[in-house]
Amino acid sequence: MLHFGAVGEDNVMPETCCICLQEVNPPTRNPNDDTYRVHCLVCGEYEIADDLSRASFSSRPPNSHLLSGAVRETNENGRIPTFTRFDELLSLVRVPKNPIDMMDRVLLSLQKTQEKVGTPRNYTDKDYPLAYAHDQIEFYQIIETLRKMGYLRDYYQANNVGELTYQGWQRVIELGDKRAVGDQAFVAMPFRADLNALYEVGIKPALKETGYSPLRVDKTLHNEKIDDYIISQIQKSRILVADFTGQNAGVYFEAGYAMGLGLHVIRTCRKGEDFKNLHFDTRQYFHIEWEEPQDLKEKLVNRINALTPLK
Ligand SMILES: [Zn+2]
Repeated sequence: MLHFGAVGEDNVMPETCCICLQEVNPPTRNPNDDTYRVHCLVCGEYEIADDLSRASFSSRPPNSHLLSGAVRETNENGRIPTFTRFDELLSLVRVPKNPIDMMDRVLLSLQKTQEKVGTPRNYTDKDYPLAYAHDQIEFYQIIETLRKMGYLRDYYQANNVGELTYQGWQRVIELGDKRAVGDQAFVAMPFRADLNALYEVGIKPALKETGYSPLRVDKTLHNEKIDDYIISQIQKSRILVADFTGQNAGVYFEAGYAMGLGLHVIRTCRKGEDFKNLHFDTRQYFHIEWEEPQDLKEKLVNRINALTPLK
């Protein structure tokens, strides 16, 4: 299916969102690159690469509800995501893993609209991506559960209205406290002289530019083993940047450990042989491919700015 009518073609196909297939206004083409800016009433606003927008779907792309949720959450955080692949879009957010996670997302998005007590948010059938729900039916069930649990005020049992109760605010504050404080970014990468520039010219300046303090643990001081010091430093970090060039076992471990803690993990790898040799288990995740440290720096800054910038 061609999603957007190309200029100069007699295309009578309706223009539809590439994610949820809802009809949208004609997307605007970005003059600077090959992307389209789409504004969907369900998903929100996003910039999608021309190639991907023209890919053939007989139906929605796999996990379209997660993709809609990712766009919506990024928008709620004040940004418009740009992506060339759908897994790239998913790498910008932390996808909820269970229904409690989904409920927490609703509370977290709601708190941003609750500046004045007594002003509820009205939900529509197009708001289900706020919970990463499959559809509005699932979304309204989540609202109902939140109301029954006492997190949302009971407006005559209406499911399309949201206002945090005292308990709801307590939950939001609890969720905020669980997040790492501080600005430390753990850097997991092999310690090889030929990769020094990767750190000095690529990763370190990118982290500094986005407000992070990079921490690269010199493993020579720690007998090359994953010791308590490394574990405790990952726990104290806010994000982890993992470079998989050279397929270092320590990097796989540290990235997996950080992921288990719920940290944002940004994966990078040198283009070519290194990228082809990525371990099967990790290949499913989006990796930033780089050729030179300088180009990695730019890509990393863009990624962090889309994800979780500190400045
Ligand atoms: Zn959409």
